[in-house]
Order: sequence, then structure tokens, then C-alpha cells
Amino acid sequence: MKVIDHIKNAKSALFSIEILPPLKGKSIQSIFDGIDPLLEFNPSFIDVTYHREEYFYKKREGGFLEKVSIRKRPGTVGICAAIINKYKIDVVPHIICGGFTREETENALIDLHFLGIDNVLALRGDAIKSEGAFMPEPGGHHYAYDLVKQIVTMNKGHYLEEDLVDVAPTGFSIGVAGYPEKHFEAPNLTADLKNLKRKVDAGAEYIVTQMFFDNKKFIEFVNACREMDIHVPILPGLKILTTKKQSSILPKLFNIDIPQDFLEEIEKCQTDSEVREVGIEWCTRQSKELIKFGVPCLHFYTMGQSEAIRRVASKVF
Ligand code: FAD
Repeated sequence: MKVIDHIKNAKSALFSIEILPPLKGKSIQSIFDGIDPLLEFNPSFIDVTYHREEYFYKKREGGFLEKVSIRKRPGTVGICAAIINKYKIDVVPHIICGGFTREETENALIDLHFLGIDNVLALRGDAIKSEGAFMPEPGGHHYAYDLVKQIVTMNKGHYLEEDLVDVAPTGFSIGVAGYPEKHFEAPNLTADLKNLKRKVDAGAEYIVTQMFFDNKKFIEFVNACREMDIHVPILPGLKILTTKKQSSILPKLFNIDIPQDFLEEIEKCQTDSEVREVGIEWCTRQSKELIKFGVPCLHFYTMGQSEAIRRVASKVF
């Protein structure tokens, strides 16, 4: 079932999660171990992230440098298929612009369509480490907006090869990313929201937000979206902070703030297990407030913390 239909049919806030494919060489069991403790909350859908290749230079004999490409977390499509097969839960594979030509994007979407997957989260992806700024593949998309347009075109039965006959239209429900604290490249929140509106006007049916720890920022974001005529459901992305280190890493990685009162609570902790308790408490409070505000779904970034999510969900759902 499509995410948008789950939302339309829901009588109360839904529960959903995002998982990362395991590091290359690891078994899929780690994925199942992460999902199993959360089954009792009936996740409506499970997002599976996509991780593109990175490049690095390896020194070879004679001082030559060889450019090597690695993908640390392959397997998005396979994991989606495994989840459907094992749990019969809807999946949302993430699909990104980076590293894909339009043809490769089309082929990836054909695979998903054949697997019976009718949801995607359409994203641009970040610059790879060896590039300062995001660079599309030659013939690839610059922005998630362009990717949304390609998916919508396929949903209408138009593929890149114009003279195909008797084509089956795809039927993807498309989600896109939103940033309550602004995407780091955008000059200001209004400019970012205008770009978000472009994605929605192009056919995105819902928005999933970047993680945030301050509900005020999410509520202001929702209000700003509505003022800008963005009326699709907005799903808050939630992460439980579980170690002291994360309080300095997460703001850098995701360009978000940690509220001062939360930070003070974290700083008082002697151990990471104390931080984890504070993080669970904070996320539980956030979740309850967000449900009161009327969010359609609480979307949790698992990041290996299913047990902490289980503790939050058991107090909220
Ligand atoms: P876009 O919507 O294309 O926006 C990127 C920037 O360009 C923004 O600053 C925007 O304001 C600006 N912009 C957009 N359109 C235009 C335009 N026409 N002209 C000028 N500027 C424009 N990354 C992964 O690699 N894999 C994942 O699985 C993944 N999952 C994610 C899930 C969620 C919920 C979120 C919030 C992020 C995820 N990301 C993922 C990270 C994401 O790819 C990065 O944040 C990326 O930098 C931006 O992606 P986007 O889709 O928001 O880009």
C-alpha cells in the first residue's frame, strides 16, 4: 500500500521507521534484528536508505595512484524485497540523483516496479567526499525536483525511450525531504521552502523531515509550509540521542541544533547509558507533543537503536 494511503486511512498517528543497509559483508540478520523488537507497534512502512559510491586514491607500486570506488552500504533494493517477503510490511526505498544517469534511474525504478514496490523517497543525495559540492552524473539530475518529475512521467506511462508501445505506467507514491532548520546549502528558509514547494507541485505527496530535537522548529516549519501553500502531510523524523558524542556530531552531520536545556541535561550525565535515558525521555516528550499537535506519523531513524525506540514507542502508542 502507498504511504499516502496509509496516512489517509489512519485514525491516529502512524508509526514508521528508517533503516540503513548493513555495511558491505555483513548479514541481513542485523536488519531483521533491528525490525523485530518494533513489530508490536505495527510499523506502517519501513524506509531503506540508499548509499552511493565513494572514491579514494590507493597508492600502487611505482607511486601511481589508483582511483578506487567503494560502496559501503549496498543492497537497498534487496533489503526492500527481503522485508516484503518476511514481514509483508510496505517499504520505501530511497532513490537519489547522485551517481545516477537518467537511464540508470529509470532502470532502478523498473526494478522496484517489478518487485511490486509502489513507494519511493526521492532525494538528491550529498556531495561525495572528494567533491566540494554536489555534482550530478553527466545526464543525471541536479535536484530532487528533477527526479520527482522523472518518476511522475513514468507514473504517466512515459519512459525515456519515446517509441515504446503498450507501456505499463508505474504507480509510485513519492515522498521528499524537508528541513525544519533549513537545508545547509539554502541561503535562507524561504528559499528552501520555495524549492520544497517545487517538489510538491511536481508531484511529491508527502514530506519527511530531517531529524530535529526542538518541536518548536518543526511546528514553525509546518506553519511556514502551509503559508507557502504546501498542503501535503509532513512527517517528523525523530532520532533518539544515545551518546554524549552525538550531541556534537549530529549538529555537524545534519546541520541541526540541540536545544540548550537538552544539552545541559546531557552534560550532567556521567556515562552514555545515562545519556541514553535522557535521550529516551526527551524523545518520548517530543513524540507526545507532536501527536498532540496532530502529526500524521512519527518516523524514527533507527540507526541501530531499536531498543531505545521500542521504549519510546511503548509510552506513546
Ligand atoms: P533537494 O531538494 O534537491 O535540495 C538540495 C538543495 O538545493 C537545497 O538547499 C534546496 O533548497 C536547493 N534547491 C533545490 N532545488 C533548487 C533549484 N531548482 N535551484 C536552486 N536550488 C535548489 N541521502 C542519501 O544519500 N541517501 C538517503 O537514503 C537519504 N535519505 C534521506 C532521508 C531524509 C528524510 C532526509 C531529510 C535526507 C536524506 N538524505 C539521504 C540526505 C539528502 O540527500 C541530503 O540532505 C541532500 O543534501 C539534499 O537532498 P534533497 O533531496 O533535500 O535535495
